[in-house]
Amino acid sequence: MNIHDKNAKTILTPAGGYLSGYSHSLNPYMGCPFACSYCYVRQLPVSLFREEPWGSWIEIKRNAATLLPGEIRKARKKGPVTLFMSSATDPYQPLEYKERITQALIQAMLEEPPDFLFVQTRSPLVVRDLPFFRQFGERIRVSMTIETDLENIRKHFTPKAPPLRARLRALRTLTEAGIPTQATIAPMLPFSRKFPSILKEVTQRVALDDFFMGDGARGKRTERLGIRKLFHEIHQERWFDPEAWKKVYPLLKEAFPEITLLVSKKGFKPGGKTVLH
Ligand code: SF4
Repeated sequence: MNIHDKNAKTILTPAGGYLSGYSHSLNPYMGCPFACSYCYVRQLPVSLFREEPWGSWIEIKRNAATLLPGEIRKARKKGPVTLFMSSATDPYQPLEYKERITQALIQAMLEEPPDFLFVQTRSPLVVRDLPFFRQFGERIRVSMTIETDLENIRKHFTPKAPPLRARLRALRTLTEAGIPTQATIAPMLPFSRKFPSILKEVTQRVALDDFFMGDGARGKRTERLGIRKLFHEIHQERWFDPEAWKKVYPLLKEAFPEITLLVSKKGFKPGGKTVLH
């Protein structure tokens, strides 16, 4: 892993497209060691113009927490500051154990609070910052990516990502502590009939998205990444279908009321309450 230090010029990036409900995205690092096969960041300029493959390098934005308060103050002059952390990295990737860049950002936010913070991760390390999350009240949601309940499927598509059991345990801890949470089945991977009840044990809200609604290009981006082949290798092509989510949605509806079962972009909108109005 090539690890670089970087002094970022800015830390908040104006949000748009899929994240149009947010004023900004916030990436404490660039690069991500989880290297998910379907990660669309591989095709963005930040990755394309590097010689090193996606997943083999990380830039630490060393000055992130110093920049943040001033940028929040400036952004607030134009309207509510709603932050999505993170869109192009995992804020709780393993380096965060030692570097604590994300934790410093969270602490800075307690001094200069945004109107809302959405934390998107697949790492159980997120639990470490629970005491800080509590202080956000309903101005936060922690969203844990859990694309399947089948560990063999997880290993096939994302061999370097944290095991599912650890993610479920982390999500349960946060939910039981009263933090607004959700399980994010995105992108949806093949799962068992038990999945909805497993999720019901650990959270009250689910966001569901797939490779066709969620990749920003009606599946074309995902095709370019060669994901169809990965489904083919395990004889699960029927799950790689724009209609597949509609077939499993009723199963999820048995465990979650419709108002807490949000599809595609709706599952990522700002809003800390369990039930959005
Ligand atoms: S965790 Fe997120 S940013 Fe990291 S490789 Fe996977 S999809 Fe990409």
